[in-house]
Amino acid sequence: MSQDITIAQFQEHIREKYAARDIQRGSAPTFMWLIEEIGELATALQGQDRANQEEEFADVIAWLCTLANIHDINLTSAIEKKYLQSGGPKGFK
Ligand SMILES: [Mg+2]
Repeated sequence: MSQDITIAQFQEHIREKYAARDIQRGSAPTFMWLIEEIGELATALQGQDRANQEEEFADVIAWLCTLANIHDINLTSAIEKKYLQSGGPKGFK
């Protein structure tokens, strides 16, 4: 896989590789994994280890893709609807 992947390609990669296990695990435990990774990112950002920071950013987006897959949410479509359509971003709320 190229380093210039799109969010859609990455979400599909996560689906192809982990979907069966992810669906079996379910939403609530997957959400807990996502929050754990966000905590690891918070810890990494307090340090100076850039490689570790990159790893934790990657973990967060991977688990976000997993959660979106479980809920059949297309992240690219969601991002386009909220942030890229005319009128500009609707904000972070
Ligand atoms: Mg991690």
